[in-house]
Amino acid sequence: MKVLIATHNLKKKAELQRILTPLGIEVVTADDIGIDLTDVEETGTTFEENSLLKAQSGCDESGLPCVADDSGLAVDCLNGAPGVYSARYAGEHGDDEKNNDKLLAELDGVPLEKRTARFVSVVTCVFPDGKKIAVRGECEGKIAFERSGNGGFGYDPLFLFEDGRSFGEFTAEEKDKVSHRGKALRLLADELEKII
Ligand code: IMP
Repeated sequence: MKVLIATHNLKKKAELQRILTPLGIEVVTADDIGIDLTDVEETGTTFEENSLLKAQSGCDESGLPCVADDSGLAVDCLNGAPGVYSARYAGEHGDDEKNNDKLLAELDGVPLEKRTARFVSVVTCVFPDGKKIAVRGECEGKIAFERSGNGGFGYDPLFLFEDGRSFGEFTAEEKDKVSHRGKALRLLADELEKII
């Protein structure tokens, strides 16, 4: 089965390809098929809504089944923020450094035991016949007091996994095994297998 992945985030694109390709799903990007996907405005208030908006738009524009991820970080003591606004927490879309600085400032003085958080990924696949599959993966952790590691993207350098390392210190393969997106994509692959 061939699916289009709809994302402009190159790191996310790499994760999606890395996880779906070994599962027997041929993944193509907009570049591969020579189209330019509209940059969909994320007007939803939930990961589910935004994920569907992106997948629907990609399917409509390509005529292919389209997979889109909407993801973010939910911090308990910030009432779930930055949540669906994770990419633009500090104002500008996708400025990881500023987003991490803002998160550290918001958590100033909060002790480690109260810095609990989770990454959430909702992955939606929309088919040209209108069928839709949506799956959700979550990964629990805590927000560190300072960045560590050079791997990953976004909030990875501040996200402490249960083994005490940040996702920034994980290899790509280690992260895929436990991450929100890894979990969601494996659920998606299970669902796709049922209908291929
Ligand atoms: P989206 O592209 O609108 O789904 O925004 C996702 C945002 O959530 C990213 O820009 C990151 O800030 C954050 N995020 C999502 N997944 C991850 C991850 O695996 N690691 C670090 N940050 C993530």
